[in-house]
Amino acid sequence: MNKPKSSKKETVKKTIFCPRCGSTNIFWASGLPQFWSIWECRDCGYRGAFIIEDSKLASKIREEYVKKKIGQDSAKKP
Ligand SMILES: [Zn+2]
Repeated sequence: MNKPKSSKKETVKKTIFCPRCGSTNIFWASGLPQFWSIWECRDCGYRGAFIIEDSKLASKIREEYVKKKIGQDSAKKP
């Protein structure tokens, strides 16, 4: 009996976002034991086990973060 080949390719790549700034510029922090799921954000320097996979939430966070960042930058006048 031939087994039906599943044509369903599971190539769903999860997009992960930084919970602090909503950036996708987030990487697995190296140099740590594998059981430590620590992520590191290159944008805001966030480091932690918590990441988000919800793009809608991420864009909201990103919006807020950018707003705050702009506010901080304009406050820092030379
Ligand atoms: Zn971040």
